[in-house]
Amino acid sequence: MVDFILKNARLEQGVMDVGILDGRISSLAANLEVQATKTIDLERRLLLPGLIESHCHIDKTLTANRVGNSAGTLLGAIENWIAFKPSISKNDYLERGKQALEMAISHGTTTLRTHVDVDSNGFLALETMLELKELLRDDITVQIVALGNPELEFETMRDAMRLGADVVGGCPAIRQNPKLEVENALKIAAEFGKPVDLHVDENDFSNSLEFLADEVLRLKFELPVMAGHCCSLDFMNETDVARVIEKVARAGISIVSLPACNLNLQGRGVHPVPRGVTRVLELLNAGVNACVGSDNVQDPFHPIGNYSLLSAANLTTMACHMTHDLGIQQTFEMISSNPARALGLPKPEIKVGANADLIVLEVESAKQAVCEIAPCLMTFKAGKLLERRSWTS
Ligand SMILES: [Zn+2]
Repeated sequence: MVDFILKNARLEQGVMDVGILDGRISSLAANLEVQATKTIDLERRLLLPGLIESHCHIDKTLTANRVGNSAGTLLGAIENWIAFKPSISKNDYLERGKQALEMAISHGTTTLRTHVDVDSNGFLALETMLELKELLRDDITVQIVALGNPELEFETMRDAMRLGADVVGGCPAIRQNPKLEVENALKIAAEFGKPVDLHVDENDFSNSLEFLADEVLRLKFELPVMAGHCCSLDFMNETDVARVIEKVARAGISIVSLPACNLNLQGRGVHPVPRGVTRVLELLNAGVNACVGSDNVQDPFHPIGNYSLLSAANLTTMACHMTHDLGIQQTFEMISSNPARALGLPKPEIKVGANADLIVLEVESAKQAVCEIAPCLMTFKAGKLLERRSWTS
């Protein structure tokens, strides 16, 4: 007896029936003959593991109209956001955060890492997002990065970790002393035994990434480290690029590319307009674990978007010249197995014993899902059906 059966699911290994019991895949066969409380016939639609968002900001989502950013630059967004932040109420954080997570679930995301602002003015955003994480724990797994200022607010960062943040964050390139930001972030992570996830080099000139890699190697730092953006890598000469990427690979640092935000914010007022997206292909070719994320959604940093990871993967194929067969497949891995590795999760697979975090799509392959930005018809979290769009059959 199982909780339910997904009949005629299209998997890599063929069309199979998938039995689910207690939140896990309990059986897998061409013709499953077990009793089930409920059966859903997928009629040969594609069944994939739930997608993994490795970088976003749910505390900022859906504020674009209220905050604005007429300059269209990163600095413009940061300044306007800082001025707006004190006016946000707890309920505002909660409602928008909930809508952000629901949007992500509706597009097939079952695990999500979000950065949440932390500063010495208080922990309203962090406390509310920790509450939300708990509230929706049966619907989506959430990891929270304390996005603060390890350079100048070391104790605030430690307090954030004590409150329950999962990951140490920071933004070295916008600090007076980027090296100190990196050193302190690694120090706090080591103290609390937590991963590090920094916004790195979101510009065309800095090189905090190399310093981060040097420090990880020097300290023999064992905890997981992720670097987001890394835009300046796109502007370096080939010798420097090769050196930095080799160190990143050796240090085992995961990179998350955020093409939507980078294409929007980078290269303003410059012609020809540079893409400002990190060198995903070169990173992958060097063996670096590269991911792609949504980053900002409908806020002053990026006033459009909807948390569709298939859309982020699709954009990556164009922004990073990955429209060849392997490239498209790789962009799918950047929203599936690569972020799983970066976030310390098991490889997303449809096999007996795996978590029943699953999505259903009206296409025949993951590659086709990226090409078409296929709508997600169903999202299951640990076997719980959260989203169902009707289909015609
Ligand atoms: Zn970000």
